[in-house]
Parts: sequence; structure tokens; C-alpha cells
Amino acid sequence: MFIGFFIAQQNPNPIWQASRYIPFSHPKDFESRIQILKKLLSPEGDGQNCDKISMDPDDLRNHGFSENDHFPEMLPNAVVYPTSTWDVQLIVLWAQASEIPITVYSGGTSLEGQYRPACHPRGICIDMCNMDKIIEIHEDDSDLVCQPGARWMDINETLKEKGIPLFFPLDPAPGATIGGMFSTGCSGTNAVRYGTAKGEWFINATVVLASGHVIKTRSRARKSAAGFDLTKLFIGAEGTLGIVTEVTIRLAPVLPTTVAVVQFPNVQKATEAATAALNTGVGIQCVELVDDVFIGAINKYGMSKQKYPVADSLFFKFQGATAASLADTATVVKRVVEEHGGTGFQLARTQEEAEELWSDRKNAHYAGLALAPGAQGWPTDVCVPVSNLPQLVYETKKDIADAGMLSTIIGHVGDGNFHALILFKTEEEKVKARELVSRMVRRAIALDGTCTGEHGVGLGKKEYLIEELGHNTVAVMNMIKETLDPKCILNPGKVSTCFSSVILRKY
Ligand SMILES: Cc1cc2nc3c(=O)[nH]c(=O)nc-3n(C[C@H](O)[C@H](O)[C@H](O)COP(=O)(O)OP(=O)(O)OC[C@H]3O[C@@H](n4cnc5c(N)ncnc54)[C@H](O)[C@@H]3O)c2cc1C
Repeated sequence: MFIGFFIAQQNPNPIWQASRYIPFSHPKDFESRIQILKKLLSPEGDGQNCDKISMDPDDLRNHGFSENDHFPEMLPNAVVYPTSTWDVQLIVLWAQASEIPITVYSGGTSLEGQYRPACHPRGICIDMCNMDKIIEIHEDDSDLVCQPGARWMDINETLKEKGIPLFFPLDPAPGATIGGMFSTGCSGTNAVRYGTAKGEWFINATVVLASGHVIKTRSRARKSAAGFDLTKLFIGAEGTLGIVTEVTIRLAPVLPTTVAVVQFPNVQKATEAATAALNTGVGIQCVELVDDVFIGAINKYGMSKQKYPVADSLFFKFQGATAASLADTATVVKRVVEEHGGTGFQLARTQEEAEELWSDRKNAHYAGLALAPGAQGWPTDVCVPVSNLPQLVYETKKDIADAGMLSTIIGHVGDGNFHALILFKTEEEKVKARELVSRMVRRAIALDGTCTGEHGVGLGKKEYLIEELGHNTVAVMNMIKETLDPKCILNPGKVSTCFSSVILRKY
């Protein structure tokens, strides 16, 4: 007896009706399953003219490999390109019936292997690139409704072109999208002023659950005390609890900014200066720590218009409603950093110079890779209470040097969050990189910190979850997962799901 067919007959909801096309037995032949999906997604329901499914080898590779991280190729069996929430529902029901894993791919910039299909069968990748529209802009409410494939940089560009003086302040990789940012719980350089994805920037989300049902997590009101915060449940879930198909994001007023850079004798002095500057309460939008190795990389990378003194440094971005308030902030910060051993305080003289200075900081990943041409990078992040950051950075830098490895260190120092990009060329060096990351994470956890401040768990950090959070906390995560996705079809093997009994049984 096909249970799914039975449910579809009993249930008038069209989404269940769609499942009538699917025999609910175990898949033997992926090809024939794909033919069914083609029918479901084709305009006439006959499988003809369906341009939403690809099994092209290049396409598969683009969705299962990245130059940005160190994970091996893990290719999906097919890539599917939905254009609507309805498409996503159909895909989920099809996958549910066939027990085929689904992994969502959006900007493809995540660094911990989040969108790599990790289980066997690899299953399908859902690429959100055709769901990238801004649906509504509510200037008076300072919010915007969009599809998950919209890139944060495009959103900000559109607002600027329309003359709307608002922007979305979360700023991870340039190619990152709202769906991916929501799902990784990202942040970036602006977090010290605006907080992270786990703050108030995502007001609500429309989510397709593993059952095929669609929920909206809450209304568009700026705040709501109505029940559990389901928006937050899905933030940082890396596509393991549902597929996000629409999001309302909050926007902030655009303020004039400028940039300054200053050198320090060591990381400790730089961190103390950053904390002291933040504690004055003046308009600091970003404060970024970069180490001497990073500065060497920037000088070598060749994109910068200037050569910086090779020293541990801070990059500041100031914000203020008027030129006078910007100047005041710069004066206060200059005084404070000099009290903490800062030298060579350079304040951008023009807007153009400010943008150049800032892009030198933002080019961190590619400048780091340029340090050793031909090398691969192992990017990683950890986060500790700010006062513990100098010890963590000092010990990690020493560990990297003792291992004879090369790595840049950059930090969102105001948050106690720092990144290393460890370079390796050989298998032996890759093993050393893995050991360095492992020691760095354990050091961070011992300092009351976390295995990841913003990149998320993916494949790279899952082994540390129990150590950081404890068995019971991870067990609660698994209970949520198993309730929402009992067959474990949504991005299996990621976040806490690797400890789930379903996944241990199935894969
Ligand atoms: C150069 C560079 C700089 C970076 N800087 C930062 C930084 O400063 N701060 C920071 O936080 N990160 C940073 N990152 C990491 C990355 O940009 C973020 O993790 C970002 O949030 C990922 O977004 P994405 O659209 O690329 O998501 P993807 O990589 O496509 O996906 C990420 C995860 O979200 C899931 N997902 C995507 N869309 C959906 C959806 N619609 N529904 C459900 N699940 C979904 C995917 O399955 C995957 O698990 C950087 C990366 C690079 C390469």
C-alpha cells in the first residue's frame, strides 16, 4: 500500500495532491525519479520544456566544490532551479517521497562545507539563483521583503539607485545572499555596531518544511511577543530544518562614514585600544584587527594603492550624521589609540581614499591566498569574550609559527571574533592545518568561547559541538531536527544532525 498515495487522496491540499504522482517506495533508479520531478516542474505537467533541472557535469561540480575552502569535491546528483515557493514545495514532497536528500545552494560563499551534499546518495541541490527578487520595499517601515537568492550587495545597490537612504548592514562575502546569510547566522565587519543575523535583522521568513507545508514565522511588525521565536529557530540552521523562500529584512539609515588605520606594537595593545575606543561610545561602525602577516599580504597582493607599515594594526570605520560628528569621533579615537601605543594614525582625506583603505581590509581572503601562490587556504573562525582575545590570538599565532605554517589573522575585534586563513600546499601541511584549527577551537572553547562566531558549523565544526555545548543541548537540537524532518532529508549530516539517530541509521 502506498501510504503517500493514500494521504494524497484523503487530503484536498494541492501540495498533497502533487504527491500522487510519486510511488512511495525506495528509490532504485535516480534517473526515473528525476523524470517524475521533471513532470512536476514542467509547465504542462508532461516533463516537456522543463528547464529547472540540470545534470550537466560542470553544473554539478559548481555546486559541490569551492576554491574558497578546503573540503573535497562532493557533487550532488542533480541541481534543481525553483522559481517559486510552490516549486520548492513540489521538490520537497518529491524528495520526501523518494527519501532523496536535499541541500540548498544560494550564494555558495559559506566556508565550512555547508552546501556540500555530505551523505549517500548525495541527492539534489536546490539552487536559489532564480529566486532573487526584491518583492516589496517599505521605506516608511525601514524593511524590505525579498526572495532568498537576493544578494545583500545588490539589495543595497538597488536602494541606492532608488534614492532610498537605507541599507542592510550584515556584510559577509560580496556574493552572499539573504537565504544563505539567514541560514548561516552570518555577520561581518558591521556586527560591532549592528549585531549579527541572530539579532533583529530578519523580521520573518516563509519556510517550506520537510513535510511540504509552508509556514510564515511571524508578521511584519517590527516586534512581536506572539509565541516562540520561529524566525530565530531557522536562523543558523543551515537548511536542516526547512527551506526559506521569502524573508522580510530590516533596514538601517545610511550614514556618512570614513576610515582610519593605525599600527600597534602587538595584538594585545591593539585589542585593548579597540575596546577602549568602543567604550567611549563615539560613532564606530567597524573596528577590525589585522596582524602583521596580513599587512605583508596586502602589500604583496598588489591591489592596494599604498604600502602599509608591517605591524599589527586596526582598521576603523567611523559613522556620523554630520562631517563635524565624524571629525569628533576621529579625534577621540586617535587620542585613545595613542594612549594604548598606537602610531601612524591615518585618517582618509577623501571618500575615495576611505573606500580604498576599506577595500584593502575587505580583500583579506584573496590577499591572504596571494601570500603563497599555488597554496590552498583553510579559512576558519572562532570567537571568545573580547578580553580573552589577545591571549587566544597570541597563542594561536605562536602555534602557527611553531608548526612552520603560514597564516593571516584578521579579527572583528569589537566582538572577540577572529579568522585565520592557514595556507597549505601538501597533504602533510593540510594535516598540520587541521591540527592547528583543532587546537585553536579547543583553546577558544577553554576561554569561554565558541567554535564559530559567524561562519557556522557545516561539516568543519560539527565535531566540536558537544564539547562546546554539552550532550543535552545538542540532544535538544536533534529533537527539534527529528520532529521537523523525521526522515532527515534536509541537508543531512550538517550542524547537529550528524549525531541524530535517524542519520546514524540511514547513512
Ligand atoms: C571572501 C569571503 C569573506 C567572508 N566574510 C564573512 C564575514 O565577514 N562574515 C560571515 O559571517 N561570513 C563570511 N563569509 C562566509 C559566507 O559569506 C557566509 O557564510 C554567508 O552567510 C553565506 O551565504 P551564501 O548565500 O553564500 O550561502 P550558501 O553558501 O549558498 O549556503 C550556506 C548554507 O545555507 C543554506 N541555505 C542557503 N539558502 C538557503 C535557503 N533559502 N533555505 C535554507 N537553507 C539555505 C545552505 O544549504 C548552506 O547550508 C565569507 C566568505 C568568503 C568567501
